[in-house]
Amino acid sequence: MSEKQVGTVCVYCASSERSPAVYLEAAARLGKHLATAGLGIVYGGSSLGSMGRMAAAALEAGGRVTGVIPKFMDELEWGNKNLSELRIVEDMHERKRLMLELSDAVVALPGGCGTLEELFEAITWKRLGLFFGPVVLVNVNRFFDPCLELLANTVSQGFMDERHAAMWSVADEPESVAAAIEAAPKWPRTARSFAAVR
Ligand code: AMP
Repeated sequence: MSEKQVGTVCVYCASSERSPAVYLEAAARLGKHLATAGLGIVYGGSSLGSMGRMAAAALEAGGRVTGVIPKFMDELEWGNKNLSELRIVEDMHERKRLMLELSDAVVALPGGCGTLEELFEAITWKRLGLFFGPVVLVNVNRFFDPCLELLANTVSQGFMDERHAAMWSVADEPESVAAAIEAAPKWPRTARSFAAVR
C-alpha cells in the first residue's frame, strides 16, 4: 500500500504534437482513467501535445485538472484556458516544486527532455526524503524500456542502493495506473538514512 491515500496525481507528459498517435491516445486514456478513478490531476498546464490530450479527456470525464505554468510560457499562450485551475508561477523551479507539493503521487507518460527531467527530479526528491509518494512510469509502446534499464544500472553499478529500486514502478497500460499507485511499496520516512550510498 502507498504511504497515504492518494487524492491528487502529478502527471508528467509531452508537449509534442508530432509523436505517433499511440502516445497521444495513451495520454487521453490516462486522463479519462484518472478522472474516472476520482483522482485529481496536476500537470504542466499546456494545451499542447500529450499534455493537452490528457487534460481534455480528464475534464470531459468530469475530472479536476490543475495546471501549473511559468509566466513566460503563459505569455507565449501555451497555457490551457479550459482547466479547473491554472496556476501561473515565476519560473520552472517554482513550477516543479509546486507540482510535487500539490500531489500525492507522480505518473510519467512518454515524453521528451522536459518529461524525463521532471521524472528524474521526482525520483531524486524521493531518494532524499523530500517526496514520499508512488512514482509510476506508463510504459506505452515499451517507450521506457531503455530508461528502466538505465535505472537498473544505477543500482547494479553501485550508484544507488538496492532499496532505491523500490522508488519507481511500471504500468503497462494507462488503465493500470490507479492499481499501480495503490500497489506501490510504502517509502520509508527514514529514506535519508540510506540516501547516500557508502
Ligand atoms: P517535453 O516532454 O520535453 O515535451 O516536456 C514536457 C514537460 O516539460 C511538461 O510536463 C511540462 O512541464 C514542460 N513543458 C515543456 N514544453 C512545454 C510547453 N510547451 N508548455 C507547457 N509545458 C511544457
